[in-house]
Amino acid sequence: MKLACFESGGTVRVGVVDESAQTVAPLDGVRDVVDIVERYDELKGRLRGGDPVPLAGVKLRAPIPAPRRNIICVGKNYREHAREFAQSGFEAGAVKGAEIDEFPAVFTKPASSVVGPGDTVDLHPQATSMVDYEAELAVVIGRKGKNIPKERAYEHVFGYTIINDVTARDRQRNHKQWFLGKALDTFCPMGPWVATADEVEPENLEVKCWVNGELRQDANTRDLIFDIPTLIATISQGMTLVPGDIISTGTPAGVGIGMKPPTFLKSGDVVEMTITGLGKLSNPFV
Ligand code: MG
Repeated sequence: MKLACFESGGTVRVGVVDESAQTVAPLDGVRDVVDIVERYDELKGRLRGGDPVPLAGVKLRAPIPAPRRNIICVGKNYREHAREFAQSGFEAGAVKGAEIDEFPAVFTKPASSVVGPGDTVDLHPQATSMVDYEAELAVVIGRKGKNIPKERAYEHVFGYTIINDVTARDRQRNHKQWFLGKALDTFCPMGPWVATADEVEPENLEVKCWVNGELRQDANTRDLIFDIPTLIATISQGMTLVPGDIISTGTPAGVGIGMKPPTFLKSGDVVEMTITGLGKLSNPFV
């Protein structure tokens, strides 16, 4: 089941997307997608939408437009990207020849950075001149848990969506941490919907990203260095994960800093990304 959040006639609603028919059927009696995540065992089987309306006639928002906590993100989680990042000179403290870390790098983006499909991403020219894109598979946590063992990790996953982990590379480099460069308003496009775990094969998904129609990233989640069970086990060590938490699993090679010379986004650029079964997330940058 694909769950979207959308605006229609001035109202924000949640609905079930039929991708082949390009429609969304509004659901009554639910507040938002996180409400469904929290009550899924009770609700599933009776989540039937009302009359479907064409997707073209509604404004999709991020499926979880106001996460209750920061989005948890993983850095350098594909080999080729770890290499391009280490060689780019933008990784503060990079040790040559040690591109692949022993443990995953984890940081967060504030909930306030989330925007939806089609929303404009602000280039923040007063704060940065080096804005870059990162196509990522994001995991939506469905079941509360702490110290989750790897072999039970998937029991805690509700579904999946796409995140563009937009990054101000100069702030990431200059401040010797990742938060400031990742946290700017509008820097977390998400969507277009959450697909429930039963219809996604998370370890075999094509991840692709285009800038103005030019293919820049083309990878498969089977190449993750730290797989989803490892990430959930690591992040939940001593920290309770709750329904609606989002873990973005890292981006593959092909970002702007990996190009020669490094190439950053400029006003008017459109960044589109697709992941198998999760639709297309497209955003203009201004
Ligand atoms: Mg990232």
